[in-house]
Amino acid sequence: MRQLNDQTGTIYEPAQAVFEATRCIECYNAPCVDACPVGVDIPRFIGRIKMGDFIGADQIIREKCLLPGVCGLICPVERLCVESCCVTQPLGPVRIHQLQRFAAASALAQGNEEFEPVRSSGQKVGIVGSGPAGLAAAASLVNKGYRVTVFEAMDSPGGMMTYSIPDHRLPRNILEAEIDAIKKRGVEIRTGSRVDPGELLEQDFSAVFLGIGTHKPVSTGIPGCDLTGVYQGLDFLRLVSAGSAADPLREEIAGRRVAVVGGGDVAMDAAISAARLGAKRTHLLYRRSYQEMPAIESEVSLAQQEGVLFWILTNPTRIIGDEQGRVTSIECREMELGEPDDSGRRRPIPVAGTEFKLDVDIVIEAVGQKVDSDLIGRLGVETDSAGTIRVGEYGDTSLPGLFAAGDVISGGTTVVQALAEGARAAEGIDRYLSA
Ligand SMILES: Cc1cc2nc3c(=O)[nH]c(=O)nc-3n(C[C@H](O)[C@H](O)[C@H](O)COP(=O)(O)OP(=O)(O)OC[C@H]3O[C@@H](n4cnc5c(N)ncnc54)[C@H](O)[C@@H]3O)c2cc1C
Ligand code: SF4
Repeated sequence: MRQLNDQTGTIYEPAQAVFEATRCIECYNAPCVDACPVGVDIPRFIGRIKMGDFIGADQIIREKCLLPGVCGLICPVERLCVESCCVTQPLGPVRIHQLQRFAAASALAQGNEEFEPVRSSGQKVGIVGSGPAGLAAAASLVNKGYRVTVFEAMDSPGGMMTYSIPDHRLPRNILEAEIDAIKKRGVEIRTGSRVDPGELLEQDFSAVFLGIGTHKPVSTGIPGCDLTGVYQGLDFLRLVSAGSAADPLREEIAGRRVAVVGGGDVAMDAAISAARLGAKRTHLLYRRSYQEMPAIESEVSLAQQEGVLFWILTNPTRIIGDEQGRVTSIECREMELGEPDDSGRRRPIPVAGTEFKLDVDIVIEAVGQKVDSDLIGRLGVETDSAGTIRVGEYGDTSLPGLFAAGDVISGGTTVVQALAEGARAAEGIDRYLSA
């Protein structure tokens, strides 16, 4: 895995971008392109930056990536394009993501992108969920001439990008500008519309796409997890994302001791947000070692820079409260690693007699999230053992006319993966409706 100590959210100056671009050797077989889930033509867009054609670079990225600024900011590139870059020493791999976010920011600054309206075939497709999977499916289908309506339960579109990933990593002006560009292509998004996909199929939609993600929190289930002061990671991040509503949250967190349980993106974002909201001390409890930690490496480094205290190979056993039912401490136990489990990661095993207590006022549980099993159960669609929807090569489910992509089929990966799967499912819908 490549280590990148990029500052979150920085955008290159033009001279920096041109310098970085000249480090790309434009390899013939470009392994970085294969490593990008949507297949951005990286050498070609970097070639335009070398020539000073920043808008041209953005257009090349957009041929494959619907959200270039977003992906340039939050793709886990240490595992994707940058990981496979052939350039090594002395300056390390080319900062492909930095160049992508620079090109996107240049285009955003220029503004006024025009789209040619595509002639509609008249067939209507319903899209449930406006996260990256739903947006990618919608944009591809509009390009193919379908009439598309996106139904979104929340008040704003964007899914986890809007309601979970904090602003310090994904500035909202970039996200909103890229979603606006999708709307300008002719994608209608109805926010505040929680719908039943089964009912849509029975209405006058020729096909329905499901991109509802994984929004049901998983609790540790330990004694005390219902005490006052215990938050679910996604709920906590939603409050953080709510902007002005974050002020009461700041009052709740500032000067307090916080424990975050988990080692994924939600845990890291929650810990960093708590530290930034002024927590006196932020602990992060993770039951495995750094090697098994699912969070993006740059996020782990950022959390460490923010002063978050990492308790590795540590699992909470109970949350303790006072007479008023408010959290006062958390009891933990040391763990050691055994043989690999079903996930392929080494199983954490409790070490007897190692219990200890940390005094805390707030506990944030961030041990995972799962699909809406009630909705999926009502649909009667085939699922796999984790409850996620089982799909074929083109996102086709076991119900004719119903397609799915994104976290609801994978259990949770990345924005760029959801974009790739959404576009592929659009291909599947087109084949289904053209047959
Ligand atoms: C805290 C956090 C940090 C992350 N960090 C990164 C990162 O740095 N980089 C990265 O690439 N990925 C990251 N991810 C993962 C990424 O956000 C997800 O993989 C991606 O958003 C999944 O897209 P999706 O479209 O499948 O679902 P979602 O983004 O979850 O969108 C699903 C949408 O469907 C809507 N919906 C659900 N049910 C209904 C219904 N019945 N009717 C109407 N609408 C409905 C929801 O309101 C939601 O808006 C992070 C995730 C989290 C939670
Ligand atoms: S979309 Fe993401 S993975 Fe693909 S080239 Fe851009 S930053 Fe890399």
